[in-house]
Amino acid sequence: MNKYRSVTERIHDFRPVEMHPESDWLHAELKHCQDCGIPFCHACGCPLLNAIPEINAAALAGRWGSALSRLLSTSPFPEFTARVCPALCEGSCVQGLHGEAVPCRHVEFAVIEHGFANRLIRPRPPKQRLQTHIAIIGSGPAGLAAAWSLNQAGLRVTVYEKDARPGGFLRYGIPDFKLEKEVINRRVALLEEEGVIFECNVAAGEDISGRFLQNRYQAVILACGARQKRDLAIAGRSLAGIYFATDYLSAQNRALAGESLLSDAYSAAGKRVIVIGGGDTGSDCMGTAWRQGAASVCQLEILPKPPKTRAPENPWPEWPRVLRSSSSHEEGGERRWSVTTNEFFPAQDDSVRVGGVRCAEVQWINKDGRLSPVPVENSVFTLPADLILLAMGFTGVEKSALLPGLGLELDATGSLPCDASGRLPANGVYVCGDAAQGPSLVVRAIADGVKVADILMRDLSIF
Ligand SMILES: Cc1cc2nc3c(=O)[nH]c(=O)nc-3n(C[C@H](O)[C@H](O)[C@H](O)COP(=O)(O)OP(=O)(O)OC[C@H]3O[C@@H](n4cnc5c(N)ncnc54)[C@H](O)[C@@H]3O)c2cc1C
Repeated sequence: MNKYRSVTERIHDFRPVEMHPESDWLHAELKHCQDCGIPFCHACGCPLLNAIPEINAAALAGRWGSALSRLLSTSPFPEFTARVCPALCEGSCVQGLHGEAVPCRHVEFAVIEHGFANRLIRPRPPKQRLQTHIAIIGSGPAGLAAAWSLNQAGLRVTVYEKDARPGGFLRYGIPDFKLEKEVINRRVALLEEEGVIFECNVAAGEDISGRFLQNRYQAVILACGARQKRDLAIAGRSLAGIYFATDYLSAQNRALAGESLLSDAYSAAGKRVIVIGGGDTGSDCMGTAWRQGAASVCQLEILPKPPKTRAPENPWPEWPRVLRSSSSHEEGGERRWSVTTNEFFPAQDDSVRVGGVRCAEVQWINKDGRLSPVPVENSVFTLPADLILLAMGFTGVEKSALLPGLGLELDATGSLPCDASGRLPANGVYVCGDAAQGPSLVVRAIADGVKVADILMRDLSIF
């Protein structure tokens, strides 16, 4: 089965690259689900605790309505995870021990899209409204999940979002070729019809104060993400042409949405691109750069190349830490591991623009039980570049006026000091998603949003 549209075709557009399987193929694959006595996919893999064997069995029997209601009983937005989840469930599937895991994410896609296509997904406003008002700060997957959950219980929810439209990194981070934005619009429209109020272009802490939020709402949930970008403070960092990956990706997403024009600075057309950071954000930059017409793309990672198969210390059913290649990697370019970046140097004909990077190879040496990178002698090399994208992750929650306004401060690790239930030291203030657990995954953000909504309702004695 072809997983993706052909490279020659997809490289010229930003439409979704993934091809979801034919029903015959899916039917044959579903027969491999063993309905295990202990379903590790459900209990150990999926943060939402999706009842995967039951969903699979219903889909195999063609009982799509029942598969859908089982899926929706634990997962509010399967259409997001069906597109972008790394499928932690598949990593712990028993079939995956000796062969291919059951393709649970494709099943999820088939079930939820069958639901939408057959108008089984309709707005379901709560039957009763309570006089409890809740504010949610941030409309990424965590904020949306908390809003959905509280609204379903009849609470009155207002989501404040500083960006122009709801979605967080779903909308302004993940490229359209992985997640088409119509899918977010469809869900936001449903939430609005169900009664959730979205106030976009409102930065909490600047446009509205912490005191306003605490006076007006019985509780406040911070779902503002972990967006403090990790920088690379080396010589030449101030040269033009070096940008954070999320600024670059968001500029492209905004341009596609017609929100703004793509500036030359954020266009890779004709440029030699270097992406520093070997993770998913880096791979999203590669795919975006190719579509913009880059001359070349190279991704650098300081960590060693992962093994092709599980290492003994990474046994099943743990998530396999193995070499992965995304659709963007398939599109071309170079990937280099165990490389440290020492310096950015200027272009020969323009002393304010970047002309390349000076790097060295590193070896990972065990020092007192911890692996540390040690430069390899005589391994220094240079790579020419016109555009450099820093995709090295995030260090924690962004500092903003909102936190002191609510009587909160970040701890030394850049995190908010919450308890295991997401309660913060300020009365009636909670935190969820990346802001609570650090940069993670869409599925974890959704699960955490639902969890914190539950805790909040218990605290307010709403059950
Ligand atoms: C480029 C990229 C690609 C990714 N790809 C994947 C993937 O393929 N699969 C996957 O599972 N995960 C992926 N992730 C990770 C995933 O997107 C995040 O883990 C997830 O979005 C976190 O959700 P969240 O709701 O906690 O925060 P966010 O999505 O970061 O949303 C936080 C929201 O809060 C808003 N906000 C912040 N402060 C304020 C304020 N003061 N007032 C009002 N609003 C505010 C922000 O504007 C934002 O909309 C990716 C991340 C990036 C950056």
